[in-house]
Amino acid sequence: TGVSLRYMMEFGSRPTERNLLLSAQFLQKELPIRIARRALELESLPFGLSRKPAILKVRDWYLDSFRDIRYFPEVRNRNDELAFTQMIKMIKVRHNNVVPTMALGVQQLKNEQYRTRKIPTAFDEIHEFLDRFYMSRIGIRMLIGQHVALHDPDPEPGVIGLINTELSPIQVAQAASEDARSICLREYGSAPEIDIYGDPTFTFPYVSSHLHLMLFELVKNSLRAVQERYMNSDKDVPPVRIIVADGAEDVTIKVSDEGGGIPRSGLPRIFTYLYSTAKNPPDMDCPSEGVTMAGYGYGLPISRLYARYFGGDLQIISMEGYGTDAYLHLSRLGDSEEPLP
Ligand code: ATP
Ligand code: MG
Repeated sequence: TGVSLRYMMEFGSRPTERNLLLSAQFLQKELPIRIARRALELESLPFGLSRKPAILKVRDWYLDSFRDIRYFPEVRNRNDELAFTQMIKMIKVRHNNVVPTMALGVQQLKNEQYRTRKIPTAFDEIHEFLDRFYMSRIGIRMLIGQHVALHDPDPEPGVIGLINTELSPIQVAQAASEDARSICLREYGSAPEIDIYGDPTFTFPYVSSHLHLMLFELVKNSLRAVQERYMNSDKDVPPVRIIVADGAEDVTIKVSDEGGGIPRSGLPRIFTYLYSTAKNPPDMDCPSEGVTMAGYGYGLPISRLYARYFGGDLQIISMEGYGTDAYLHLSRLGDSEEPLP
């Protein structure tokens, strides 16, 4: 059963005991379905991927969580509800490292094929699986996160669970830019400027952490492209520009750089997992190393999933030899239901 942003907002605006109970009862039915589908799929991946230790580990997390919810007694009253909430909060923590662990598994398969000089597998099928898998994960974490956050006894004004009904995209763009610039500074010793344009008083309802993540990834890509292009030149470094437009249907945010663009032959691959032109890919075996400028090749595909989750989209337009424009469209009405794989 899919849920829309608007529904979560309306439902969550009255977090009475009765509503929290209803919400917990819904999750007790819905979560095991979503989790079981993913667990089954994890067991039937092509090219022997299901037998890779990293994938088995992820599968076991899914099985454990499935059991935790299914063996939990039926939620009937306030006390049950609080215990249930505590339990799903733990489930969310258990699954924190799913993305890098899955990436490790796929990487192992790729390396193995490279070593044994097997003809490299067409990764389309795996790519489609990962899209479904991560999209489902975004949904599960949103449902759990929203339910848990509704228990906050003293929420900030305008905040309903994870949703900020008065989110200022300019403010999020500023915060994401600062974060990305500080990583760029750490990595290169300098960072291009970022100019942000748009109405600073404009707000709309959205999940602030989602928007932050998407803008952070886009800005990081732009900073890296500009930085690498101008690092060894004495020309003025052109700023990265972020433009926020508030339309009737969409809020669109453009991240625009003069970092040289992407060759047209590479464009079909930028949204695939593990495609990266970063020179020193991070060590997949210790995924807790902290954030780097680039390397996993996950930034764009994951950001696009977050955009699509609430009915938006992400497009990349490149002019090779000049620069790249990323268009992040966010659906303003929030009526679209979760895309369930
Ligand atoms: P990470 O997972 O750390 O983000 P990544 O940046 O390599 O690693 P993506 O963000 O998915 O992965 O981007 C994939 C590739 O697309 C990049 O490696 C880069 O080659 C290209 N790319 C993305 N954005 C830009 C840009 N603004 N300018 C030039 N190339 C870009
Ligand atoms: Mg990136």
